[in-house]
Amino acid sequence: MSSAARTPIGVTARVPAKVNLELMVGPRRPDGFHHLATVFQAVGLYDDVSVELADDWGVTVTGPYADQVPTDDSNLAMRAVRLLAGETGIDVPVHITIDKDIPVAGGMAGGSADAAGALVACDALWGLGSSKAVLEELAAELGSDVPFALTGGTAMGSGRGDRLAPVLGRGRYHWVFAMGDAGLSTPAVYAECDRLRATMRVHEPVPSASMMSALRSGDAAALGKALSNELQPAAISLQPRLDGVLRTGIEYGALGGIVSGSGPTVAFLVADTERGLDLAVALTASGTVSVVKRAVGPVVGAHVVTGPTGRRSS
Ligand code: ATP
Repeated sequence: MSSAARTPIGVTARVPAKVNLELMVGPRRPDGFHHLATVFQAVGLYDDVSVELADDWGVTVTGPYADQVPTDDSNLAMRAVRLLAGETGIDVPVHITIDKDIPVAGGMAGGSADAAGALVACDALWGLGSSKAVLEELAAELGSDVPFALTGGTAMGSGRGDRLAPVLGRGRYHWVFAMGDAGLSTPAVYAECDRLRATMRVHEPVPSASMMSALRSGDAAALGKALSNELQPAAISLQPRLDGVLRTGIEYGALGGIVSGSGPTVAFLVADTERGLDLAVALTASGTVSVVKRAVGPVVGAHVVTGPTGRRSS
């Protein structure tokens, strides 16, 4: 290999995790999915997805969760790159490196984040300049949570969660995330939700007025009270320890607590940085969680941080 070929020509995209502030789950559809009404918020917990020209297609994952992520063609970032290449007729191999800080199978859409990051990074690497609409369409093909990982901010999701509408909200919110050792499979949590509701009449999901009004006013205390997740009973049924984690967080001053998406990460809303630090210490000391992280939201979605020249762009 010549020295020119060894010089990496790459792009890095940074992409945030999400928390569902509200997750209403409708009846199971004939295609197996559920109608959702959800409010997403992107939070400052990130994966960095780097792509560089290479002799062959490949994926490397680094960071504390690396051993839980596939590095073959099933990796969601690789699926995203292959999809973009196929759509645009590009046949230039790239190597993807994911520096992973979003927990795996944690209900924070880490895999979807990597897919969104890979789309944005490859679009820049290949100089495609695709419109937002084109990237969003590809994102929706890759998974329900991928469009939101592109968009970020705070947004309402309907359909499978992939049809997005921006939420006019105010405020910057402080979050504390309590992670467990074992993840939860999203399909398993939906199946448990169906089982628990087997004898109930399940209505079409409708976003709540209290959530929208809390976000409009930027009132963290009201938002804490409005947090709700209809998958939470199913996540607790599969991991009963989550009930204790939720109680510990509220006991130590959180404004509200919720299982994030399909779990098992538990998200606590706190008033400010100081309360966040106190809660993080209390949760760690309680011995009920393995890792505690703090982050603020909302933050922007997938964006390039290092351009093709190797220069940092933000
Ligand atoms: P969601 O909140 O969207 O339901 P999650 O956060 O619970 O998802 P992910 O971290 O996205 O779960 O991972 C789900 C599964 O997807 C993992 O168990 C893993 O095997 C697989 N996977 C494929 N590609 C990736 C990736 N790039 N990062 C993480 N997981 C991946």
